[in-house]
Amino acid sequence: MVCLMSRMLLLFTLFLALTNLGCTRGKSTEASSNSVAQQQNSETSPTPQARRYAEPTGPAMHVNADRAMQYTKEIVAIGPRWDGSKGQQKVGAYLHGKLKSEQVEEDTFVADTPAGKIPMRNIIAKFPGTKDGIIVLGSHIDTNYPLRNTSFVGANDGACTTALLLAIADELRGKKLEGYSVWLAFLDGEEAIQEWSETDSLYGSRHLAAKWQQDGTILKIKGFLLADMIGDADLDILREQNSTQWLDDLVFEAARRLGYQSYFFAETSAIEDDHLPFARLGAPVADLIDYTYGYNNVYHHTTEDTIDKLSTKSLKISGDVILETIRLLDANADTLSASAKANRK
Ligand code: ZN
Repeated sequence: MVCLMSRMLLLFTLFLALTNLGCTRGKSTEASSNSVAQQQNSETSPTPQARRYAEPTGPAMHVNADRAMQYTKEIVAIGPRWDGSKGQQKVGAYLHGKLKSEQVEEDTFVADTPAGKIPMRNIIAKFPGTKDGIIVLGSHIDTNYPLRNTSFVGANDGACTTALLLAIADELRGKKLEGYSVWLAFLDGEEAIQEWSETDSLYGSRHLAAKWQQDGTILKIKGFLLADMIGDADLDILREQNSTQWLDDLVFEAARRLGYQSYFFAETSAIEDDHLPFARLGAPVADLIDYTYGYNNVYHHTTEDTIDKLSTKSLKISGDVILETIRLLDANADTLSASAKANRK
């Protein structure tokens, strides 16, 4: 994924505006438009705490974070998983093995990339609910392609969120979901093959979004929650500006209810990630991403992205907030999306 704008620490807005601490791998820095967007956000919406939400029904759900860490280790142990590698095939087989009792679909395709044609596959596991509508949880499963000749294993960038989705599958398995269906989307080809651009990135999510537009699934999506790089032991999930505001607010409400709000939204930034193709087709999306992985994001896309930089506690926070957001969506998605639409008119 790519960070578009310079990070803005809310408490140090002025300082950062002057020094322009851009993302290490950012495409551009637009500090002024960032602060304008922040201003608009604060003017047009109440603070998340001030908004009243309908109470979720049904029991709270919790992720088994020890197991999420164990899955992370197993995925990392596969080795590099860049598209076209043996590791990519192995992680696919690994996921199928873990999701044996689920309804699983594959979305296979051949991507046209700067390195030629590469076969890719998204894997989707479906947990049916009683309400008409779908909540999608996404993570990319590939590792960085340009680093394929290094020991890069993407512990945080790819492995831990794939593992987190598997741990969430464990929690959902065998339960009668009283709310919307929950689909887990394991997305291939997130990383650029050569250099990040519209056409060289997000291969899997672009393909799946187009497919879901064609078969009408996109209209049924009540919320798309993308998890990326949120196993970082020093967890600070940013408020991502390409995300849908009401859904971000709902994520914050979930975090607040669990006492985890200090790990969320101290920073604001726009990121290009797997949520974009779905957002462009009108689905409500939230990219849950921590883009300060090591001081000034130094571990990101380096061989330093290893398991020792992660923590079970961060996986617990990320997983539980996602599960609580599902319950809040079940109770609030229709009202919130309707009022967001009405506000636009
Ligand atoms: Zn990456």
